Amino acid sequence: MTFVITQACCNDASCVAVCPVQCIRPRPGDSDFATTEQLYIDPATCIDCGACAYECPVDAIFPEEDLPPPLADFRDINADYFALHPLEDVRPLPVKRHRLPDATTEFRVAVIGAGPSAMYAVAELSEMVGVSVTVLERTPTPLGLLRAGVAPDHEGTKLIGERFSRVLQRPNVECLFNVEVGRDVSVAELLIHHHAVICAVGAADDRKLGIPGEDLEGSVSAREFVAWYNGHPDYSDRHFDLSGKRAVVIGNGNVALDVARVLARPASAYEKTTMSDVALEALRGSAIEEVMVVGRRGQVFGAYSTAELLALERLPGVDLLAYPAEVSVTDEELVTAGLEESSFNFARRRGVIDAAARRTPVSPRRIIMRYRLKPTALIGEDAVRGVVLTEADGTSEAVETSLVIRAVGFRARSMPGIPFDSSAGIIPNDAGRIVDPDTGRPLPGLYCAGWVKRGPSGVIGTNRTDSAETVASLLEDLADGRVPQPVGSSTDFADLIRSRQPYLVDRAGWRRIEEAELGAGAATGRTRVKLLNSADLLKAARGA
Ligand SMILES: Cc1cc2nc3c(=O)[nH]c(=O)nc-3n(C[C@H](O)[C@H](O)[C@H](O)COP(=O)(O)OP(=O)(O)OC[C@H]3O[C@@H](n4cnc5c(N)ncnc54)[C@H](O)[C@@H]3O)c2cc1C
Ligand code: SF4
Ligand code: SF4
Repeated sequence: MTFVITQACCNDASCVAVCPVQCIRPRPGDSDFATTEQLYIDPATCIDCGACAYECPVDAIFPEEDLPPPLADFRDINADYFALHPLEDVRPLPVKRHRLPDATTEFRVAVIGAGPSAMYAVAELSEMVGVSVTVLERTPTPLGLLRAGVAPDHEGTKLIGERFSRVLQRPNVECLFNVEVGRDVSVAELLIHHHAVICAVGAADDRKLGIPGEDLEGSVSAREFVAWYNGHPDYSDRHFDLSGKRAVVIGNGNVALDVARVLARPASAYEKTTMSDVALEALRGSAIEEVMVVGRRGQVFGAYSTAELLALERLPGVDLLAYPAEVSVTDEELVTAGLEESSFNFARRRGVIDAAARRTPVSPRRIIMRYRLKPTALIGEDAVRGVVLTEADGTSEAVETSLVIRAVGFRARSMPGIPFDSSAGIIPNDAGRIVDPDTGRPLPGLYCAGWVKRGPSGVIGTNRTDSAETVASLLEDLADGRVPQPVGSSTDFADLIRSRQPYLVDRAGWRRIEEAELGAGAATGRTRVKLLNSADLLKAARGA
């Protein structure tokens, strides 16, 4: 018997450290760790102890005999990984424990943002005696895209929030939510009162298509749509036109598949989840029967993960389809993508798309995967009526739709007081040290982590190694005397922040929001019922 890692894996590698026989791969430091879709267990070596399943924060690991039927493919997926990457070095990874230099008795760090990258940085920092961490988050609740991005039907993934919440309960962590850095307090003011500032603000803008009609009503970014169905207070009152029979999603990464799933599945699939009540109501009245997912290149370049594609194939009541003429794979494409027919998971992914191209639709709803089509214009006077898709030879087709969702990527936004590389869309940095873009020299006390540091790529656990690198740089600078001494005290800072933002949500306020949302969920048989606007969130935080 073996244990098997499945779809919800978010690559945080928590399981690696606890495995007594070190049969989980890739591990942090392995050449494919940064790009792997998930981690895998070697069935030939696993001794069935269950330690990894206990440790996994998202319940992604199952004993093979308990694998739920929709996850059955993962038995072979785990085994196939080791057929291509035989297990070699099984020595445990060295355990790194940080501590402050002996001469440092107090070390104050401000972390901007409370998304996954911030949480991993806070977790590492707050483990050290003498460190205190101030977490500043612009919304009234923490967790960033874990709350407002991860799809409501990825309930396993959302479980990692419990681990992050425990970090925020530590006595040396101060929560200052509903505080926007750059509006309520400046980066310079944070540096006056802290030894260091870590900017972990994510990627709050979208990449553009740059085509005519992109700004028409009915053309929306995946960022807005996802934030809406997840109940982000800035987007909850948005309206999306779900009255047409077809929606078109541009892009073919996991976010595009999330959006396609939400549009194609019946609202009943989300009734018990954390989806916003406003979105649930809108989806109940949705007329959409077809979601077309459009990729610019061939299926070889699909940026979605194997697990997400497999899940799409198994949606009850939804047929996954493709056009036979668009799913061919050329040798040239394989070379460009650095793939071979025998590459790990390639045959599996291709099998799903090729089967989609052969399938006869029988279900009331469908997702159609389209390839090698470039959107060249959105058509319409005041609102979108269609999208023009153009092949490489210039042949165009106009696809009728009143809803186009652009899922072509995110971009970080610049923040006053912190340099920004607008062409790369990230903060210029060297291993997390923010650098002066002109000289390349580190700016004392300033660091960054997560999507704003490396760009919008990777899953939640990817941020763990990313934030660990930033924390290591910070501690190295501290040991080398390169971290400035703050002139303001923590009491001064507490006074300053309360004078600037009287409606800030502290830890007690956030706990009250949790109680209100989880309580409403328990009363209605749901995971949680989200409060959807800032006024209601702040009211709950006050206990009113
Ligand atoms: C739609 C979508 C679905 C995803 N689904 C999955 C999934 O199923 N599984 C998975 O593993 N990964 C998933 N990911 C990836 C994962 O969410 C990211 O890797 C992760 O959230 C990046 O973390 P971050 O901390 O860098 O950014 P974010 O999560 O964006 O956090 C940034 C935080 O900073 C705050 N902030 C911004 N500006 C300020 C300011 N000026 N002052 C104070 N606070 C500020 C924001 O409000 C936010 O809370 C998904 C991503 C998206 C977009
Ligand atoms: S069950 Fe035990 S031996 Fe098997 S992968 Fe998990 S921790 Fe390792
Ligand atoms: S989520 Fe983390 S602990 Fe769970 S299987 Fe993936 S890497 Fe291991």
